[in-house]
Amino acid sequence: MGRIHVLDEETINHIAAGEVVERAASVVKELVENAVDAKAAKIIIDLSADTTSVKRIAVTDDGIGVSAEDAVLAFRQHATSKISAPDDLAGIVTLGFRGEALASIAAVSKVTFTSKERGADTPEAVQVVIHGGELIRQTAVGAPEGTTIVVEDLFYNTPARRKFQRSVSTELSHIYDIVERIALAHREVSFVLLYQGKERFRTYGTGAYQDAIAAVFGAAFAKDLTAVDADGRIAKVSGWISKPGCNMRPTPTRFYLSINGRQVSSKSLQWAVREGYGTLLPKGMYPAAFLDITLDPREVDVNVHPTKREVRLSRERDVVSALRDAVYTALHDDTVFEAPAAPAPETQQKLVFEEKQSRIEPEKSYALPKEEPKKADAPFASPKQSLYEKVASYLSPASAAEPDRAAARQTEIQLRRTEGLRKEAEPAKPAVEVPEVLGQIAETYIACRNAKGELLIIDQHAAHERVMYDQLLRKIAEKKASQELLTPITLSLSRAESASMPELSEILSQAGYVIEPFGQDVWAVRSVPVISSTLGDVKVIHEIIAEAAGITEKNPERVLDRVVKTVACRAVVKGNTPLTKNQMERLVRQLAETDSPYTCPHGRPTTLVLSKDKLAAMFLRT
Ligand code: ADP
Ligand code: MG
Repeated sequence: MGRIHVLDEETINHIAAGEVVERAASVVKELVENAVDAKAAKIIIDLSADTTSVKRIAVTDDGIGVSAEDAVLAFRQHATSKISAPDDLAGIVTLGFRGEALASIAAVSKVTFTSKERGADTPEAVQVVIHGGELIRQTAVGAPEGTTIVVEDLFYNTPARRKFQRSVSTELSHIYDIVERIALAHREVSFVLLYQGKERFRTYGTGAYQDAIAAVFGAAFAKDLTAVDADGRIAKVSGWISKPGCNMRPTPTRFYLSINGRQVSSKSLQWAVREGYGTLLPKGMYPAAFLDITLDPREVDVNVHPTKREVRLSRERDVVSALRDAVYTALHDDTVFEAPAAPAPETQQKLVFEEKQSRIEPEKSYALPKEEPKKADAPFASPKQSLYEKVASYLSPASAAEPDRAAARQTEIQLRRTEGLRKEAEPAKPAVEVPEVLGQIAETYIACRNAKGELLIIDQHAAHERVMYDQLLRKIAEKKASQELLTPITLSLSRAESASMPELSEILSQAGYVIEPFGQDVWAVRSVPVISSTLGDVKVIHEIIAEAAGITEKNPERVLDRVVKTVACRAVVKGNTPLTKNQMERLVRQLAETDSPYTCPHGRPTTLVLSKDKLAAMFLRT
């Protein structure tokens, strides 16, 4: 008896299954891809498991469906509707094309396939039941347009393969990963994943990449990404990547690269992304990247790997440099630190999907590809922008909203006032070190760098208050605090305020307000402090009197001090006020010239100092 024999058909099927259907996750992948190819708008993946394995996988879509005659054909080996001739292989736009998946899945499980063709003239759907590759029955049933395929008892007839299955949690993590990847690649489709009847995951099919990212990874994660949008000669690259310093991980677990809509894993493309970050990427760390690369389909060969995760690119080097340049450009764009638009409110409400920490990392780590792409001349030949320059460009008021005219004028008057006062007084102390202004933050703080290389964050209001207060005190000492008004302002005060005026007026006049009785509870303001014209506003005077009247302090000197502080506070640049670089520089200079630049008159800090050591501690470098 000869030892050599021809394998039977069932065996052949099992071998084919070995390639495409290795595990429950590969079944999910193939079924979901079929639903995407069927142009579904909504895809529901419903999983159930017992303690040992995933028992049932059901995928429902509202796609184009199949006719009754095609239903059985779909399960034939190498039966596909997606290509018809070898030429079609160049330029594939669908996810499937081998016509193997359904046959392979049906060969190793119990499948119930129910489908109704979109726009068909029959009221019925077709249902096909196949066990281990054998057609059990074909019937007409009632069902909506679209397809539901239920796969049960996977590998029930292939014990060897069943033995190789990993734990349910491992399998689930692979399934989540696959569905997430497909959902991120097909933002126009809404995906819902149920496990044991509970919704675990949902995207909304808004079409916006950010919405999909927020749905999968959370809104906070999505906010820390910056947009990439480059339309080059070779490739169009668009998507989202980590802002510098955000969402960095020691493994490339959040790399989602697609070429022409097909998810791919490519070390050289990962390398290209990291290279685009250059020094913005901490050693050994990976950013998150969600990037779509669009190429001429003729440049891409997808027919390389049975599970199609790998593609061959005819001009890989060019694609690598296009990708690297796109990332570099995105990171060096001035708006890189701006928070992206919030995801759609619907998405925000339903961020039920918590971080899945227990997930398996599909790719642990790897060495850089040996064949490193050649560096392009620009922009890498030019010295890289320093972090300070980056911070400075981000902080630059040029990118902030143009301050409105009246507010800008007001600021200018306030600043000039303290400058003018200084000039009249003694000349500025020559030796003060004036920190270099980097820019404004939140229209309230001024970021500076001093000679020691420390980062200073100055509260613009507190700083100007200190300057104003010091100068006002000097004016008071010189008895030059008042400026007379051409026409006195009349004020009607409350009974209580009026009652305290005789006592207060002496102190107020030292601070610059000369206020005299004018009638029953009416007072005339003849002079206001020289330091600011705003102090002549009736409203401001009212506030100052009200506050002065509320002071319980008896010591007149201390009352004066309180009044002066209030006056200074009212006369200076406020928070939430855009300043120009020039204004910030003048304010910082004025602050540097005061005797106690580090606190405002109320004792609050004007300046936070972030030394190198402190920064190192904050970044956990120590
Ligand atoms: P491929 O996707 O490579 O064509 P499959 O074995 O996955 O091969 O599917 C075979 C055929 O069955 C597909 O070409 C398609 O015509 C049909 N099909 C499979 N799933 C669906 C579905 N969800 N909706 C509509 N048609 C489907
Ligand atoms: Mg398929």
